[in-house]
Amino acid sequence: MYDVKGNLKRILDTLPQEVRLVAISKYHPNEYIEAAYEEGQRVFGESHEQELKLKHGSLPADIVWHFIGHLQTNKVKYIAPYINMIEAVDSLKLLQEINKQAAKCGRVIDVLLELHIAQEATKYGLTLDACRQLLDEGSWRQLPNVRICGLMAMASLTDDREQIRREFNMAADFFDEVKQQYFADAPWFCERSWGMSDDYDIAVECRSTMVRIGTAIFGPRVY
Ligand SMILES: *Cc1c(COP(=O)(O)O)cnc(C)c1O
Repeated sequence: MYDVKGNLKRILDTLPQEVRLVAISKYHPNEYIEAAYEEGQRVFGESHEQELKLKHGSLPADIVWHFIGHLQTNKVKYIAPYINMIEAVDSLKLLQEINKQAAKCGRVIDVLLELHIAQEATKYGLTLDACRQLLDEGSWRQLPNVRICGLMAMASLTDDREQIRREFNMAADFFDEVKQQYFADAPWFCERSWGMSDDYDIAVECRSTMVRIGTAIFGPRVY
């Protein structure tokens, strides 16, 4: 097996205390997760509902699961009973569905709003303007079973580290704007989820509170 424990230790040693690690375990088998668990890691991230269901059902109950991928509204009901955080919310429709399914389970589900800051053209994530619009519109305030805890972002896939830094800084500045404008009285709005295997060092310099690292812990994914 890949040296999961060694990699995990090395990464935790370099992360500042206040930055939390979400170990991204998608496409990796349970034994890899168990190895990280034995080292004390409790927060794991998955991006497919079916895979998460199997892992959630067979691994220790005190694991904290983050859903990190694009989530279709028709899949929300499957993860609502147990998911701890949904990181990539990029529409009011998805927020409303999470609220509805969370209410059915008698839960409040923590979510992050996903920003689109990278240069790649993807259909996921809110542009800064779209995010402002969603928050301005205000109906998210009527969703008592979701709690917006911060922002999530992915930088461009590039070797240009200065560009990555510009993008993360843009996200960090935007966090301050949104915090001040909409969440000044909401202490739980405090998360900045950015940084993956290749850029988490930059992300930490750009005020990330939560890094999502897969490959650097578990090795290449086998699809
Ligand atoms: C897969 C994934 C990661 C982890 O990527 P690595 O490069 O393996 O660290 C982080 N965030 C999201 C949203 C992902 O889908």
